[in-house]
Amino acid sequence: MCHEEIATNGWTSTPANAGAIFGNRPFINKPEPLAIKEIEFPFDDPTVAKTLKYAKEELHPKTFNHSMRVFFYGMAITRQQFPKQAATLSPITWALACLLHDIGSTETNLTATRMSFDIYGGIKALQILKDFGATTDQAEAVSEAIIRHQDLGVDGTITYVGQLIQLATIYDNVGVHPNVKDFGQIIHETTRTEINEAYPRTKWCEFFANFVREEETIKPWCHSTHIVNFDNIVEANTLMKQWE
Ligand code: ZN
Repeated sequence: MCHEEIATNGWTSTPANAGAIFGNRPFINKPEPLAIKEIEFPFDDPTVAKTLKYAKEELHPKTFNHSMRVFFYGMAITRQQFPKQAATLSPITWALACLLHDIGSTETNLTATRMSFDIYGGIKALQILKDFGATTDQAEAVSEAIIRHQDLGVDGTITYVGQLIQLATIYDNVGVHPNVKDFGQIIHETTRTEINEAYPRTKWCEFFANFVREEETIKPWCHSTHIVNFDNIVEANTLMKQWE
């Protein structure tokens, strides 16, 4: 195991409490507009290419577009709010985490197990990524981030990529964060518009809220219940309403 992998694969210890990171504000640095073409998606990496093809085949098209938006939101947040991590975090590791973070939500995977969709998805991703040529450390960083991506809390620490996927998914799904004031402002409106236009939402919030309801009905013990009233807050997302 090499030490550089900690930064490259986003293991860097980060407060679990996003509110503690941003203080009483929605950002550390005021976000400027960032064009989507300035954010490079690592299409040329062979592991990303295989994972992208797999995600396109397995995920619902609405979930695939959500996963791509999460990639771009996370890249914007990293670059503008966490320049130190931006200098070292592998965009490949981040892309793999985004593409597979909801893999447990497919109809097949949801009913294949009694496990919560995020936990099962993280375990599945570990094997998929090893098969697709990711390094063990990279696959494990992605797996841990997927397992904890809905584990919003205030105590303890989380990996950087785990905190980032929480921020980016909550941003796309809810538009408000329980612990971050005026969370919508973490990304500039121009950037938000461009990302929603590049990967259209097509009523994503309604679709995802219904998924949460379905999971909580089939598996009343599931981890999605940890976010109180999750289905309704997703449906009440006003930040993204105009693009729904
Ligand atoms: Zn998601």
